[in-house]
Amino acid sequence: MSGHPDHLDASAILARLRIDGARVTASRVAVVEELVGSPTHHLTASELLESLRVHRPGFQESTVYRTLDRLVEVGAVTRIEVDGGPAVFHLASAAHHHVVCERCGRVVGVPASLLDAVAARLRRDHGFELRADAVTLPGRCVDCETEHPADVGGHGAGG
Ligand SMILES: [Zn+2]
Ligand SMILES: [Zn+2]
Repeated sequence: MSGHPDHLDASAILARLRIDGARVTASRVAVVEELVGSPTHHLTASELLESLRVHRPGFQESTVYRTLDRLVEVGAVTRIEVDGGPAVFHLASAAHHHVVCERCGRVVGVPASLLDAVAARLRRDHGFELRADAVTLPGRCVDCETEHPADVGGHGAGG
């Protein structure tokens, strides 16, 4: 098995927050740990709230939103806008792109190197610097593709 590129460590992230002078409150620790512990590392605010409440039934929705806002402000967490769905939050770690399922809204991080050739060409031909963290590619996740193989968006083009 080759090593997974995702190297997420809650204590390292929290230590950096302290160095940057941000307050490390109990709710910030909880949110960061939840994102680190999630199998996909990408959660919407309501998914985050749901899993936080498993261990902390009293966790307030407003606290989740406020905490996320602060973590975004200090640069520990990045907010990914998803077309037609709620924003997804992830830890600002290694640069990566995102693929987004148009049916269920699942967001998955994929290695930034996948678009290296595209980024290089944009840089060379257009003087444009592609920002890895901001790219989301639409499509269909494996579960939805298996469930609805024939329903591939749009209607038959005739013929
Ligand atoms: Zn899906
Ligand atoms: Zn991500």
